[in-house]
Amino acid sequence: MKQRLVVIGAGMASGRVLEHLTDAAPDAFDITLFNAEPRGNYNRIMLSPVLSGEKTYEEIVTHDDAWYAARGIACRFGEKVEKIDREMKVVEGANGHIPYDKLVIATGSNPFMIPLPGHNLDGVIAYRDLEDTQQMMGMGPNNKVVVIGGGLLGLEAAAGMAAHGVDVTVVHIMGHLMERQLDEAAGYLLKKSLEDKGIKICLQANSKEILGEDGKVRALLLDDGTELPCDLLVMAVGIRPNTALAQEAGLATGRGIHVDDQMVTSDPDVFAVGECVEHDGEVFGLVAPLYDQAKVAAQALLEEDAAFMQKTLSTKLKVTGCDLFSAGDFAEGPGREDIVFRDPSRGVYKRLVIEEDRLVGAVMYGDTADGSWFFGLIKDGTSIEEMRETLIFGPAYQGGDTADPLSAVAALPPEAEICGCNGVCKGEIVEAINAGADDLDAVRAGTKASASCGTCTGLVEQVLQVTLGDDFQMPTAQPICGCTDLTHEDVRRLIKGQELKSQAAVWQDLGWTTPNGCHVCRPAINYYLLTDWPLEYQDDPQSRFVNERKHANIQKDGTFSVVPRMWGGITTPDELRAIANAADKYDVPTVKVTGGQRIDLLGVKGEDLPAIWSDLNKAGLVSGHAYSKGLRTVKTCVGTDHCRFGTQDSTGLGIKLEKILWGSWTPHKLKLAVSGCPRNCAEATCKDIGVVCVDSGYQISIGGAAGMDVKETELLCQVPTEDEAIEIVMAVTQAYREGGKYLDRLYKWLGKVGMGWVQAQVVEDLENRAALVARFELSQSIYRKDPWAEHVKEKARTYAPIADFTLEAAE
Ligand SMILES: Cc1cc2nc3c(=O)[nH]c(=O)nc-3n(C[C@H](O)[C@H](O)[C@H](O)COP(=O)(O)OP(=O)(O)OC[C@H]3O[C@@H](n4cnc5c(N)ncnc54)[C@H](O)[C@@H]3O)c2cc1C
Ligand code: SF4
Repeated sequence: MKQRLVVIGAGMASGRVLEHLTDAAPDAFDITLFNAEPRGNYNRIMLSPVLSGEKTYEEIVTHDDAWYAARGIACRFGEKVEKIDREMKVVEGANGHIPYDKLVIATGSNPFMIPLPGHNLDGVIAYRDLEDTQQMMGMGPNNKVVVIGGGLLGLEAAAGMAAHGVDVTVVHIMGHLMERQLDEAAGYLLKKSLEDKGIKICLQANSKEILGEDGKVRALLLDDGTELPCDLLVMAVGIRPNTALAQEAGLATGRGIHVDDQMVTSDPDVFAVGECVEHDGEVFGLVAPLYDQAKVAAQALLEEDAAFMQKTLSTKLKVTGCDLFSAGDFAEGPGREDIVFRDPSRGVYKRLVIEEDRLVGAVMYGDTADGSWFFGLIKDGTSIEEMRETLIFGPAYQGGDTADPLSAVAALPPEAEICGCNGVCKGEIVEAINAGADDLDAVRAGTKASASCGTCTGLVEQVLQVTLGDDFQMPTAQPICGCTDLTHEDVRRLIKGQELKSQAAVWQDLGWTTPNGCHVCRPAINYYLLTDWPLEYQDDPQSRFVNERKHANIQKDGTFSVVPRMWGGITTPDELRAIANAADKYDVPTVKVTGGQRIDLLGVKGEDLPAIWSDLNKAGLVSGHAYSKGLRTVKTCVGTDHCRFGTQDSTGLGIKLEKILWGSWTPHKLKLAVSGCPRNCAEATCKDIGVVCVDSGYQISIGGAAGMDVKETELLCQVPTEDEAIEIVMAVTQAYREGGKYLDRLYKWLGKVGMGWVQAQVVEDLENRAALVARFELSQSIYRKDPWAEHVKEKARTYAPIADFTLEAAE
């Protein structure tokens, strides 16, 4: 019979136990997993990139429902375990008890809250989980936040909020930041970098009281009388192992739950892993040792030989632009000597601490590329006697080999640790590569290198390059163009995360290698900026393709086509007369009805464009945007007005949708249609967004195409009212605008994010839907306007033929 295993806590440590266990022996246990948080396992250390906007929560989920289901793990998420009865071998959850043969406690830590007066006020939070992160993400440019604690967590919280324009002050009791990991010089450089990001830092500042108003935090009072006003106060001053359950159950505890080398507690059937444990007098706060513990616990549960050993740890800070590395012991002391290197112009500082010809500590700021190599020397206790003179310059300078930038990685021995979080050495990666892993994803899958905080991704790629040489395939994600190594996705994330609101800011802050971009990247960057910052960013016509610059489609003979908008495909005799008159007046050779139910005047001379637009404007006709990466047409059938099969007013809905969406820019062209019944005369099911009316309401489907690719739409949802249908269409359009890669049609975007994701964002999460609609409306408050009228008024001169300019210049 299978043994019953109960696991308390779905955190980073227990996630690994379950992985090892179910990989090695899928049928050994019936597993039940409790978690107080209402969700399964996610990569907690990536909450900081979520906070700064560089990642989404969905991207940091490590085990989803399907994963647990495939391994037969019964999940009791959102249920706190209240008691362990060791005598009966039963765990009592909030919703009922369950017996166990073996138990794993993985309850992590509790954030420590300084018991200052006012610490219970509303708006005083810690930084530990998704809820804390979401509260911080709720802050914006009009808010002030105080963070108590200038350590790793406090600074990541501060930088994450500062990236959203929040006014953040960090209050730290010590004389320099991250004093446990950095010396004073590196702490100073870090402070400068953070201040450059707009963060205020108060050092040697002692908090006295948290002041409130109506039960909510108002300010932090320091003991020198300074009052720091705030809408939110984040305490990031340390953690305490969460031992309450174990203590109550009578297990041996000290600072944490006592465990032996096999992660067994004082009860042989009860194991503990993660931040809740104390091993050999030590407690833990970084994931690398927890992953080692998890592996040992899984092996011990399967009665295999394994023992946990503590190792030296290294630290990195996940704040973009603050490159620091620290490892080992860097305190000054008798018999110790320092080697220091500074480059003030680049803001680089490196310090190595040597004792008896061995490297015992390393602190680096600004250039941390050699961190792994130094860390290896510290862990291995390698004698540095022979390389003392050149040691500070790193591995590339040992043995006179200086030129090749990859030589540093090539010089690393197999035991050199590449991925600190998962404890993966170069040798393991090389082994995986030799066994067939020929790209980053394959190495990640095989070894877990770069699968946690991701800071070693570059190094892993270098190992791939060194090992495979010319056979190394570049990562599948391609850079936008030759001006940058960043992908479209990176740039979109960073524009939002770093609040870059101009092209100049993108070129400078994202390190473009050209002064002003190129014809490939400029249209994309222009689009991303105007979507993300509609109020702040000024559209740049010079970054648009000729059709969008001219507001007309250029034809193969150099003339243009003019397509006035006909809302929902409906027109009037007056409009038709104005079109006919314009066709006569400007000698338009071809007048054609388009597939989208519009009239196309083909063959208009460039210099006539402002005049023909002006004439059409006088009859109330505006641009049909038949040239734009934006809303093109909403095609409709006659619906209930005229058709005996019609179930709803499809024409009316089409007109409403077109009036709401017109003028909006999207990653690629956007075509809609509304049919009055499933006979589908408007061909709604091959449009980007299609609505098919039925007796009970409106079926909305998305992702159709009828061009190079032909695709039928997929059903997004059915809603009962016209208002809701309109809301859904606006929300899905905005989601596509915000997430789509420039020049990806909606179906391509859908293929990447998946229908489930779109439904969750747009259909199920009502708050999110409303927020998408609000952001769409905000953008439309600027872009819902007729470019023809504007050009007639302000830019008519620019349409005059080049010959005239030449003449003017000559005169
Ligand atoms: C913002 C942030 C950034 C970090 N960055 C880094 C980093 O860059 N590098 C690094 O190495 N480490 C980092 N850490 C630390 C790292 O996340 C932790 O070391 C790790 O998550 C601890 O894992 P764990 O499994 O012990 O606990 P956790 O991941 O905290 O999981 C414990 C789980 O147990 C649940 N639980 C507790 N009590 C009960 C109960 N009675 N019943 C049911 N469930 C219960 C909790 O709800 C929680 O979900 C960071 C932490 C945070 C918060
Ligand atoms: S789709 Fe239905 S309602 Fe619309 S015209 Fe065709 S048959 Fe009539």
